[in-house]
Amino acid sequence: MSTNLSWFARACQVAPGGVNSPVRAFKSVGGSPYFVERGAGAYVFDVEGRRYIDFVQSYGASILGHAHPRVVEAAQRAAGLGTTFGAPTPGEVLLAEEICARVPGCEQVRLVSSGTEAAMSAVRLARGATGRDRVVVFSGCYHGHSDGLLAGGGSGVATLGLPASAGVARAAVADTLVAPYNVVPEIGDDVAAVVVEPIAANMGLVPPAPGFLEGLREACTRAGALLVFDEVITGFRVGPGGASLLLGVTPDLWCFGKVVGGGLPLAAFGGRRDVMEQLAPDGPVYQAGTLSGNPVATAAGLAVLSLLDEGAYHDLSAYTGRLAAGLAAAFAGAGLAVQVPVAGPLLGLFFGDQPVRDYEGARASAATGLYPGLMHGLLDRGVAIAPGPYEILFPSLAHGEAELQATVEAAGVAAVRLVDGA
Ligand SMILES: *Cc1c(COP(=O)(O)O)cnc(C)c1O
Repeated sequence: MSTNLSWFARACQVAPGGVNSPVRAFKSVGGSPYFVERGAGAYVFDVEGRRYIDFVQSYGASILGHAHPRVVEAAQRAAGLGTTFGAPTPGEVLLAEEICARVPGCEQVRLVSSGTEAAMSAVRLARGATGRDRVVVFSGCYHGHSDGLLAGGGSGVATLGLPASAGVARAAVADTLVAPYNVVPEIGDDVAAVVVEPIAANMGLVPPAPGFLEGLREACTRAGALLVFDEVITGFRVGPGGASLLLGVTPDLWCFGKVVGGGLPLAAFGGRRDVMEQLAPDGPVYQAGTLSGNPVATAAGLAVLSLLDEGAYHDLSAYTGRLAAGLAAAFAGAGLAVQVPVAGPLLGLFFGDQPVRDYEGARASAATGLYPGLMHGLLDRGVAIAPGPYEILFPSLAHGEAELQATVEAAGVAAVRLVDGA
């Protein structure tokens, strides 16, 4: 019989934790995952035929909603022409042109297969281009799971990184400095790169404080360090040119992922021509990939970008604002103190009565222990949000008024249930 539980039991036999990425396992919220059979627009359907309004949307990889006909058609067409060659294809050029045209200051890109690879490679490039080793990151930001970027720090102050995972050598993070988000740290002249999510979206949603990104830009320029915006979530989601154009701060390097691959494994890093020219084969910084610039993925990415114009972003942000207002009212009505921050089309949830500015605040929200109850309360009512308190909600362009009303209604009931401890 095909049930979520039976699939999970089988998965646990052959895959660690039954999943291929840890947060999918429901460890931090309890219970076990629904197994998705298919998606359509705003919805996913599990193997038992249950339907959920989906705000996970592949953690932001999907912006048009699931199985958009134009994307499906583009991927099918590309697949029919051959799925990988090991020689350059026109699709790579078209996607690179599209990215550079949309993001002012980004003159060249290299396509890779995941956001992890993009961030890891951007750091290598920055080190190669500057001849320096040190990298500065911020607590609560996520840049994928490469060794040098899996560093944890102390709270409240900038500290040298400690391995944030077993298996990461101390030496691998010895040159990674971890600073609190939203405070401009000292940038010494030994720093190769300052890597930051311009709108932090991996500790819940934490927008940049006024002056934070401008301060980083100035400090980097003064120190001769490269500013790297990790726009794997924000790129092509918060607006046509991502966070840099929206917020008016231009980094030296960008990392893109999620939306840009149209739901297929594709990501990119890019930047100023003089920096990007340091990459092999033009320069001494080595970076490569068998499936980089994959023709099916570039076709899907191009199809998605072709549907993302100013109007689409305007609609998605307006929708998200209405959803946030509805959710905030529902929580308030239930007597549950929840912050519902938004940044354009991004929406977060924090428990507490104060806005969250950094990882310490995000951790305090998670420590209330309320997220699992809310998440399951929503899931029971047909609304899927991510099974972890540090994730955000991703409304898509396929979400409409009916889904908004249903979500707000479900949130109200789930919040009452949570307050009553039922
Ligand atoms: C998702 C994410 C990554 C990692 O991307 P993967 O494709 O999962 O490797 C890196 N940076 C940010 C900001 C992300 O949200």
